[in-house]
Amino acid sequence: MAQGTVLRSHAGGYLVFETQSMASLFCQARKRLKKEHVSILTGDRVELVDVDFDKGTATITGCCDRWSLLTRPPLANVDQVVIVQAVRQPEWNQLWCDRYIVHFQLELPDAKPVLCFNKCDLIDEEQSSTLRGIYEPLGYNVVLLSTITGGGLDELSVLLAGKITVFAGPSGVGKSSILNKLDSSLKLKIGVMDNDFGVGRQTTTYSKLYQVLSGRYPETPTWVADTPGFNLQEIKYPMPADVMWQFPEIAAYSNDCKFSNCMHLVETDCKVIENIVEDDEPMPVERNPDAPLPVARERYENYVLLQAEAQEVYNQRRSTSSKVETGVKTTGGEKGKGKAIPKLDLATRSESRRREKQRFKPSILLDDESELDMDEYLT
Ligand code: GDP
Ligand code: ZN
Repeated sequence: MAQGTVLRSHAGGYLVFETQSMASLFCQARKRLKKEHVSILTGDRVELVDVDFDKGTATITGCCDRWSLLTRPPLANVDQVVIVQAVRQPEWNQLWCDRYIVHFQLELPDAKPVLCFNKCDLIDEEQSSTLRGIYEPLGYNVVLLSTITGGGLDELSVLLAGKITVFAGPSGVGKSSILNKLDSSLKLKIGVMDNDFGVGRQTTTYSKLYQVLSGRYPETPTWVADTPGFNLQEIKYPMPADVMWQFPEIAAYSNDCKFSNCMHLVETDCKVIENIVEDDEPMPVERNPDAPLPVARERYENYVLLQAEAQEVYNQRRSTSSKVETGVKTTGGEKGKGKAIPKLDLATRSESRRREKQRFKPSILLDDESELDMDEYLT
């Protein structure tokens, strides 16, 4: 049976890229799918019948299970996220960088985000190697880019080839400029600051997939989504217990602290706190893989901030949620000194897990985002 990838919704149907022929076909979904509550999203792999290459049409008869799902905007089967930031104009902010990293690692746990620092023409070599030195030792792919000099574009192309990628990042950092440089046929508008990605858009609008680099990699279709739609306001707050696992250098010490449930905040005998390196000490770019990871002061402080923020939002949501029982679990620190973390009753937790699995089955509709969000949050 013919298969394809949904590129976008189009005139009440879908534009689908048929895998074998590499042709884009206009498709209608079988009515049965709607009855069965199958939602078809951009990025979904679909099964096709009645393929007519002359007319450029086909009928969708089924939707395959997803290997990943981004919720904002709804986008299926994304392989990776490229977090784009400007090193200047606007000024780079490490807290936001770490915030984006935490968010996207939780959204796409199987793929480390690629960190793309744009506008490197505005800084010198030393400053760019400082940026590299913060994130490369932690295992992130770092691309130092300039759409003006063209530096870093080849490196980025290699990371994109054959994948579906979302470009995320605030307005004005150069996402459209980068995509236009990768593929000049895209002709995305540059410098449209206020109605740009995410801002003013409905989160439920369909995103489009664009094929890029077809000149360079004709055999392996490469896709980028046009609407990252993840502006600063749309970043979801993580569960407090999830935050530390998103910092590889902090997670690396999880078994070494005196208390097995150490949150690395104030505890005595905390290996994370013991291993903090001050910011003026250089980070080794080439490190011995067996040596413990250094924890940079700035990253640690961002961890503490994000952790506190997550806890606060969690407490707020918890006090307004009717599903939560009154049980409280204590974690971290010596007896009586630990932080109280609210606990959900088992029924609520397993219900949430079931829903989590359903996200990857196309038969769950995504139009009730509020419900989905809350359940995810409380898992
Ligand atoms: P987007 O909002 O993230 O899509 O950003 P745009 O691509 O619209 O770019 C925002 C502004 O940054 C525009 O004025 C671009 O000309 C400028 N810009 C993009 N890339 C670079 C770069 O590498 N260096 C410099 N100096 N400016 C850039
Ligand atoms: Zn600790």
